[in-house]
Amino acid sequence: MKDELIIIGGGHAGGMAAVLLVQKKFSGNITIIGDENFLPYQRPALSKSFLLGATQKESLYIKNKDFYNKNGVSILLGTKVVSIDRKNKYVILDNEQKKIYTKLIIASGSNLKEIQFPGDNNSISYLRTIDDSEKLKNDIESKNSIAIIGSGYIGLEIAATAAKNNLDINVIEFENRVMSRSASSQISSFFESKHKKAGVNFRFGLAATHIKNGDKNKNLFLSDGTTVKAEIVAAGIGVEPNIFLAKESGLKCKNGIIVDQNCLTSDKNIFAIGDCTNHPNDIYGCSLRLESVHNAVEQAKTAVKYILGSPTPYCQVPWFWSDQYDIKLQIAGIYQGCDAQIINGSLKDEKFSVLSLKNNRLTAVESVNKPKDFMLGKKLIEKQTRISTKQLKVKNLDLKSLL
Ligand code: FAD
Repeated sequence: MKDELIIIGGGHAGGMAAVLLVQKKFSGNITIIGDENFLPYQRPALSKSFLLGATQKESLYIKNKDFYNKNGVSILLGTKVVSIDRKNKYVILDNEQKKIYTKLIIASGSNLKEIQFPGDNNSISYLRTIDDSEKLKNDIESKNSIAIIGSGYIGLEIAATAAKNNLDINVIEFENRVMSRSASSQISSFFESKHKKAGVNFRFGLAATHIKNGDKNKNLFLSDGTTVKAEIVAAGIGVEPNIFLAKESGLKCKNGIIVDQNCLTSDKNIFAIGDCTNHPNDIYGCSLRLESVHNAVEQAKTAVKYILGSPTPYCQVPWFWSDQYDIKLQIAGIYQGCDAQIINGSLKDEKFSVLSLKNNRLTAVESVNKPKDFMLGKKLIEKQTRISTKQLKVKNLDLKSLL
């Protein structure tokens, strides 16, 4: 009897798991069940080059249809898994079909947080899927003004695209700086001034409280009593792990589906990978829930290796990137405060890194157009190399000297 491997979710992690299983000659049957109507695809470009019209849809796909057909991978698109019967090892689909599994991979990703305040909420644009990005792209190309709620990566990447299209842009942010959840204050202030130079107006320390559609503009009411008028209102206010199926079926969940270093859940036949997981990380000595391509790909590799009998526990330095204007921001590690911080390079030349240390160890490297620092910093974090602040106080430091 052949193994029946079912993957719930045809996103980045689910798609990569199927591709790796094929490449590593998995002998069982592979089925991907995804509720979107697209083949597994990469999302980063949706808020960057695809939103700008510089990338074609076909290049977003992890593999084209021929790959799955040729390798016997079944893909059920536009199909949702509605429950998992762990005792009898099958999943139930929204068309009431049952699918038996011997191994199951949950790659259900995350759900967008949506605006809950009163008013014409359905006129707010979000950005998660190809359809969302195409709609927003058309709006940006045809309209004159946009209000963006939230100044995280997605909000700022939308702002950068809108600025290139010469729209009037207002960004409303509850905190007092951009990217406050994940970046240091130095990086925040650098990006704030970059956006301001491009004409973006920030409204910090304010919440949007209500939205009302007018004839042309939408009226967005703010907590200080003022109103922002804009033809487009978009929101990027974060995501939550999609744990519905896991929780309903009794798998252990806490801020994500709890998995071990092999991506195994509390059921030995069920793996979880990507945005939906909460997993241990020995480098930081804590559990992490990450929303990144690196994590999706590496957890897919980890689960596949375990399934194929050569477990390689997942323990890596998390990393992420963002493109805004001509700036590439690359972040290695987790910025969670620090006891020392050093800027390596030149802010004026827009080529620098912020190095954050805690207890004489590098915990995060945020590099602006300085990929070498990012690569070497990642290695230093991984090796948990002891570094003194004195060692870092060298002009134009080559991080290689610390390895
Ligand atoms: P997803 O790619 O979200 O896939 C999950 C899939 O499962 C979805 O298609 C979902 O609809 C489906 N699904 C859920 N439940 C069910 C069900 N019950 N039945 C069937 N299907 C189901 N990361 C970076 O590292 N760098 C970036 O620059 C970056 N930019 C981004 C820009 C945007 C606009 C977005 C949205 C994300 C970005 N990310 C970026 C994050 C990155 O794309 C995600 O971390 C990655 O896609 C996670 O992969 P995943 O497979 O876990 O989840």
